[in-house]
Amino acid sequence: GSTIGILGGGQLGRMLSVAASRLGYRTHIYEPGASPAADVAHAVTNAPYEDEAALRAFAESVDVITYEFENVPTAALDLLESIRPIRPNRRALAVSQDRLTEKDFLAGIGLRTAPYRNVETEADLPAALADLGAPAILKTRRMGYDGKGQIRFKDQESRDWTGAPSVLEGFVEFSAEVSVIVARGADGQVSAFDPGLNVHREGILRTTTVPCGLSQSLLTDAVLLAAKIVNALDYVGVMGVELFVTREGLIVNEIAPRVHNSGHWTQAGCAVDQFEQHIRAVVGLPLGDGQRYADVEMENLIGDDMERVPALLKQPRTQVHLYGKGDARPGRKMGHVNRVL
Ligand code: ATP
Ligand code: MG
Ligand code: MG
Repeated sequence: GSTIGILGGGQLGRMLSVAASRLGYRTHIYEPGASPAADVAHAVTNAPYEDEAALRAFAESVDVITYEFENVPTAALDLLESIRPIRPNRRALAVSQDRLTEKDFLAGIGLRTAPYRNVETEADLPAALADLGAPAILKTRRMGYDGKGQIRFKDQESRDWTGAPSVLEGFVEFSAEVSVIVARGADGQVSAFDPGLNVHREGILRTTTVPCGLSQSLLTDAVLLAAKIVNALDYVGVMGVELFVTREGLIVNEIAPRVHNSGHWTQAGCAVDQFEQHIRAVVGLPLGDGQRYADVEMENLIGDDMERVPALLKQPRTQVHLYGKGDARPGRKMGHVNRVL
């Protein structure tokens, strides 16, 4: 069996490792910080992305490199790519590392996004706000997740600043948020899981439910636009595509070039889940069957939700996934449950 290198050793890397193991592959995780995946990977390198010797040794020990974390510095990626292939490819990473590039790309292939303006510095903010009007959301272009690095403006007079190059987005009046977990194989085959309905609380994904309740025509739209994105990027792997449902149709919120929290339900709903699907794609195996066999609700266990675990373990039709993180800080994703409905 060959070895898959994974950049990032969080819970996504951990679940990718488990899926790889099941198919007879070894994994080597590269993670600068503490790693919830350390107990399931076959090897772990704990070193910063600036450590060239560590990066080189990591790349040489694996056959292909993938990632669960899209914000790996460009210099590290350049070095890794000179030694082994990176899947999904660099373009997918470059596009999605920066919200501005991402929105320009999406608009460029004819998809709808929230109206947006580049706010490179604080000085650009008044004009952008005047242009888009309020309410609006200022988001840092890089590194934001779980709603971090975002400021909501209720009126045109607000002047709070994120402290980094940002985009201002017009507020989208959506009736629901859904996401498509789409996969593209090395041979160009595309397979999408059923869109899930996402509910957020305080900027953090709380639950994903399938079926999502969209009309058949919107379901089809969602899958077709996700396929358009992965085809345009010549993508290999699993991608999460977050969508707003509006009166005028679907608007793309953001894309993530990796397995996605809103795809965890596939562990209980499909024969091949998103983690195995991603592993299959990056090693060049045929994609698996993405058909959904059950209705499922995924709920994240965040912070002190961990106190509910003893009770959850006793519930029928419930899968409990725990990430092995020591410290249940508020807002920290500690695990999730999949309830078969
Ligand atoms: P993630 O953890 O999904 O990566 P993130 O920090 O990248 O989150 P976004 O997905 O951009 O943040 O925004 C978080 C949530 O804020 C969205 O799921 C949505 O509920 C709301 N939101 C974001 N942008 C808009 C918008 N333009 N209009 C209305 N609501 C928005
Ligand atoms: Mg995001
Ligand atoms: Mg998001």
